[in-house]
Amino acid sequence: MTADGLDAVVVGSGPNGLTGAVTLAQAGLKVLLLEAADEFGGGLRSGPLTGLDGFTHDMCATVLPLARASAAFRDLDLDIEWAFPAVQAAHPLDGQDAVLVHRDVAQTADGLGSRRDAVAWRQTVGAAASGGFGLVDSLLSPLSVPRAPIRLARYGVLGVLPATALGRALFNGERARAALAGMAAHSMVDLRRPITGGYGLLLAALAHQVGWPVVRGGSARLAKALLRRFTELGGVAETGHLVGDLGEVPPAPVILLDLTPRQVLGVCGERLPPGYARRLREYRYGPGVFKLDWALSGPVPWRDPAVGGAATVHLGGTLGEIANGEAQVAAGRHPERPYVLAVQPCVADQSRAPGGKHVLWAYCHVPNDSTADMTTAIENQVERFAPGFRDLVLARSAHDTAALERHNQNLVGGDIAGGYSGFSQFVRRPVLSPRPWRTPLPGVYLCSASTPPGAGVHGMGGYHAARLALAQLRSAAPVRMKRI
Ligand SMILES: Cc1cc2nc3c(=O)[nH]c(=O)nc-3n(C[C@H](O)[C@H](O)[C@H](O)COP(=O)(O)OP(=O)(O)OC[C@H]3O[C@@H](n4cnc5c(N)ncnc54)[C@H](O)[C@@H]3O)c2cc1C
Repeated sequence: MTADGLDAVVVGSGPNGLTGAVTLAQAGLKVLLLEAADEFGGGLRSGPLTGLDGFTHDMCATVLPLARASAAFRDLDLDIEWAFPAVQAAHPLDGQDAVLVHRDVAQTADGLGSRRDAVAWRQTVGAAASGGFGLVDSLLSPLSVPRAPIRLARYGVLGVLPATALGRALFNGERARAALAGMAAHSMVDLRRPITGGYGLLLAALAHQVGWPVVRGGSARLAKALLRRFTELGGVAETGHLVGDLGEVPPAPVILLDLTPRQVLGVCGERLPPGYARRLREYRYGPGVFKLDWALSGPVPWRDPAVGGAATVHLGGTLGEIANGEAQVAAGRHPERPYVLAVQPCVADQSRAPGGKHVLWAYCHVPNDSTADMTTAIENQVERFAPGFRDLVLARSAHDTAALERHNQNLVGGDIAGGYSGFSQFVRRPVLSPRPWRTPLPGVYLCSASTPPGAGVHGMGGYHAARLALAQLRSAAPVRMKRI
């Protein structure tokens, strides 16, 4: 395809860029996708990170409930195989059995250790998980007319609360409170801040509704399936194409930028009106992460063997301990015992390591741009709940915030969420507008995790941006577009 005759260019091939590109191509547009890295996929890349033969590590995302639930992916019916762990998430606690989150609401509630907390879990998390996709669709399209207004209102009354307050209000016992905190801490927001309770409720509900699966063979398979669909629709995609300036992008009526505000400022430069540029400069990034990947000679020796059934494990103990660790990160410090999010994909997908061996990754949150090495702190948290774990390590790979940003420029200061995800930037993402995907530059749209609905592999930022661009193209001139 030559530059002439292009209808759209997408810059960046993360899940949002890929979904945006597919959505535009489905409408009959001629689309070019430009990716800076040597591989497509952004947060969906997998590779031999530890350098050992036969071990496949996901560089970023692995556990993909949002992709299972997202309207954008549901519509695409992609050629991938989902692999489900026996347990959706586990939360080990000192001196007692781990809390296990199962697909089944009642089974999960029964393990919370108190009748009152079991009822509260069923009435809140269970209720959010029931009744179809209306609630999650509303949350992933936060600026559209809600599909399930009553369920959304019920969820919103609780979800607006900080996770600390919600956990203490709903539950009497440490087990349920800890489980909620472990879910809520995915947000990377201080758990004493508003809406962190909502993140916890949503992720817990998704464990029941769609599960917390991985893609068999590695997350890169999802990126490849999206790319295949894009090229089947006539799209053209190029890697190794770092866009440094909008002037380098071939002319097209629509340009989608799968970039965060800092890069948008660099790429669009002086073309942006000063007021909009100032608002982008004020955009706030959140904490970063320090990530470790391991190749292991066998499964992690969890003190509670039931944890071995879960692909996702939340390490950090009680709600109080997790909240304290996250508060320290928010205050710019490095907790000695951080909340650690660990993922053991082989539990669901043994294809990622040679016979009987395992891969494991874990990260903890650190202040944005931190240079600290958190290897010991993370490994101590794993050892706390799995004594002897270090003896299984065959190889290890570490990524601090700078290494993550080198891997993907969207991970500014190691922030894996595309920006702070607290209340102030939930819909003001990156600016307060009914259509935040649109920029003041004609035909130029933002579609990354720095736009609603924010972080995670769901493709909805790309979907919303592409649909907005298509609507504006249609209103400008009825072209040869198919209705989607
Ligand atoms: C360690 C880690 C673990 C995670 N775990 C999970 C998880 O288990 N589940 C989950 O749902 N989410 C997870 N996430 C979050 C998820 O990966 C992101 O929210 C998601 O990938 C964001 O998608 P995106 O399309 O907005 O951007 P990205 O996936 O970041 O993609 C942006 C792309 O744009 C490219 N690019 C940047 N600048 C330019 C340029 N100037 N020119 C051309 N190309 C450019 C980049 O190279 C990249 O390929 C994780 C993230 C990380 C880092």
